[in-house]
Amino acid sequence: MKRILVAGGAGFLGSHLCERLIARGDEVLCVDNIHTGQKRNIHHLTDLKRFEFIRHDVTFPLYLEVDEIYNLACPASPIHYQMDPVQTTKTSVIGAINLLGLAKRTRAKILQASTSEVYGDPEVHPQAESYFGRVNPAGPRACYDEGKRCAETLFFDYQRQHGVDVRVMRIFNTYGPRMHPNDGRVVSNFIVQALRGEPLTLYGTGEQTRSFCFVDDLISAMISFMDIKGTVTEPVNFGNPQEFSMRELAQEVKRLTGSDSQVVMLPAPVDDPGRRRPDIKRATALTGWEPTTPLSQGLEKTIRFFRQILSMPSHETAL
Ligand code: NAD
Ligand code: UDP
Ligand code: UDP
Repeated sequence: MKRILVAGGAGFLGSHLCERLIARGDEVLCVDNIHTGQKRNIHHLTDLKRFEFIRHDVTFPLYLEVDEIYNLACPASPIHYQMDPVQTTKTSVIGAINLLGLAKRTRAKILQASTSEVYGDPEVHPQAESYFGRVNPAGPRACYDEGKRCAETLFFDYQRQHGVDVRVMRIFNTYGPRMHPNDGRVVSNFIVQALRGEPLTLYGTGEQTRSFCFVDDLISAMISFMDIKGTVTEPVNFGNPQEFSMRELAQEVKRLTGSDSQVVMLPAPVDDPGRRRPDIKRATALTGWEPTTPLSQGLEKTIRFFRQILSMPSHETAL
């Protein structure tokens, strides 16, 4: 049995990770400041002996004894990470320093949830890890993109300078149950809008693309990546290479929900990446992992979740 710290463990991805680690027999310390996460996500775990929730902001030091650390603490949706951009950068940078300091002291292995946003609005397609990206360092997305880029720098410098065993995972758009109804990302927005019979808000031309990975696939990848033996000296992309335009996604959500909602066109957000698809050759070579859930199947599971959530009293859904 390992003692594992999951920072950001009450969030969308973090709660699924906690659940899987508990199911595997590990002891989980879930650290979260409940900024964009929710206690409801981990409610079913709180009575378990091997699970502990600690309300804490990772920008402040924390002293715990652990074998492994997963750092997922950071708001991930553009509307939320841009609401308090200074705190977003602090969370990525100071949070990484504190957790790396903890990893160094305890000799714990540590995984960073990095992001495809390190590629910014890419000129190279699909994106392989060898591409250094095109991020606007002064724009409204920079607090997230540059914060995550700096965190990657810190991870590899703690590896080179202090011998910390690190894993840097560049996660591409992931969706599934436990996304917050007001999360603001495209999959949850479209599903919630379709189920409420409201217009689906398509930003920009709708021709921009993303490649969506179902949460169960991504969590399997995360654990496999953490578990591989030996030193990993480079970041690794993880995601589902199946690429869709946002217009196609809107149609698919309408089809699967049976909704007759209109699609309304709204202005594109500043610095919105035009195309995004992961090259996952490195991930597959290292871990043997490949995503297995097609978009329609993952969307169906996510729609089922949102149908249930939306039938709950409205105070339960506020963020
Ligand atoms: P989320 O917003 O649901 O989860 C983030 C969690 O971190 C929340 O529970 C939040 O309360 C917590 N948090 C934020 N700031 C904190 C702080 N200062 N101290 C402690 N906890 C803090 O988002 P998610 O989609 O679950 O993303 C999890 C991680 O994965 C994030 O680091 C995100 O950048 C990364 N990621 C996610 C995706 C995706 O598509 N879901 C893609 C790329 C990277
Ligand atoms: N840190 C922490 N928990 C620990 C060890 C360190 O939160 O168990 C923090 C500590 O506050 C420090 C940071 O991690 O600010 C970086 O630690 P490191 O040992 O790398 O740097 P130093 O303490 O020498 O500045
Ligand atoms: N998007 C959209 N309607 C929405 C929310 C997002 O058309 O209601 C678009 C957004 O402009 C972007 C894509 O969907 O091109 C993915 O956005 P999201 O915020 O989910 O993730 P990210 O931009 O971080 O990949």
